[in-house]
Amino acid sequence: MTQPQAVNRQTFDQVILPIFSPAEFIPVKGEGSRVWDQQGKEYIDFAGGIAVLALGHCHPALVSAVREQSEKLWHVSNIFTNEQTLRLAQKLINATFADRAFFVNSGSEANEAAFKLARRYAITQYNPYKTKIIAFKQAFHGRTLFTVSVGGQAKYADGFGPKPADIIHVPFNDLAAVKAVIDENTCAVVLEPIQGEGGITAATMEFMQGVRKLCDENNALLIFDEVQSGMGRTGKLFSYMHYDVVPDILTTAKALGGGFPISAMITTKDIAQTMEVGAHGTTYGGNPLACAVGNAAFDIINTDEVLNGVQQRHDLFVSHLNKLNDKYNIFAEIRGMGLLIGAELKGQLFNRSKDVMQACAVEGLMMLNAGPNVLRFTPSLIISEEEINSGMIKLEAAIGKLLS
Ligand SMILES: *Cc1c(COP(=O)(O)O)cnc(C)c1O
Repeated sequence: MTQPQAVNRQTFDQVILPIFSPAEFIPVKGEGSRVWDQQGKEYIDFAGGIAVLALGHCHPALVSAVREQSEKLWHVSNIFTNEQTLRLAQKLINATFADRAFFVNSGSEANEAAFKLARRYAITQYNPYKTKIIAFKQAFHGRTLFTVSVGGQAKYADGFGPKPADIIHVPFNDLAAVKAVIDENTCAVVLEPIQGEGGITAATMEFMQGVRKLCDENNALLIFDEVQSGMGRTGKLFSYMHYDVVPDILTTAKALGGGFPISAMITTKDIAQTMEVGAHGTTYGGNPLACAVGNAAFDIINTDEVLNGVQQRHDLFVSHLNKLNDKYNIFAEIRGMGLLIGAELKGQLFNRSKDVMQACAVEGLMMLNAGPNVLRFTPSLIISEEEINSGMIKLEAAIGKLLS
């Protein structure tokens, strides 16, 4: 047997498609909101794997779920169903507006299914010209050609040839702009209740309720992309629950598997039944291993203890950030909901979120951004007070060095 070769950050440039620029260190172990790299250096994790690790690293209940299910049944394909997928569907349905679920493996795939379903519904229930999708500038819905085209960021969507047609983008939180373009040929309006990648911008109450009304008046479906904002991230199971507005289709991913790849699209019975056997599909989606982890994560996240703890942690993060801002005057705005928090940079740090992330790594803190000018905080929903305080000391040290 040949010994495996040592790998390091340079190896990345030699073997991986050059579409990422990962940090200089390589994490090898995690526990809760602490991570260790190849050299044994410790980090506090404020990034949470981009809002995925709702229960931190290696939560014991998720570790047991993987272990137990991995000794029973991993995969059967959708030629057969399985107990874990049925249980997880029941849980999502019982906790939301929905009556039907479809499982896939990523946010993009869940949104792809949502957009195909919306088109199919409009075409079969109304007419073949009802295909217009209204989406928002700065929105992010994934990287398949359809989802990236519905997303509102040209830098991600351009340069890949012809895009799926009949998609229109208007400014977020601008009800008049939606009203100006919505018509009888609109099949769906799709939005993130809190835009994540686009810079942590929450929809206003008036906007959410107004869009719902416009959809109803035009027989268009309302799709909420809760891939980032869902599964407890804002202190409710889904963020739409803060708004008193119910969608027709909702997608969830990231935190759904707590780190194991799984996503879901949920909808009503009436809409679901416009897709017949064979109309859409997936090989891996809904596999027992992923759904076992999803079930374990769901049972912990959807409890008062975890959901109520999110607001307390939000308050602690924001009070630390306000103190930092009082001292250094670096944030133009601190915004977001629950543990989806954005701090918009200004002054000496304007457009320097990448520099802040790098300086944080040196201090032992895993940070995230949302575009060049916003620091993003998406930690574990159960990060401890001590971990928050310790991470904030590191953030301050990093900022102090950048400003000196
Ligand atoms: C991350 C994200 C996606 C894409 O999810 P992938 O798993 O990367 O395909 C889609 N929508 C939103 C709102 C996201 O935050």
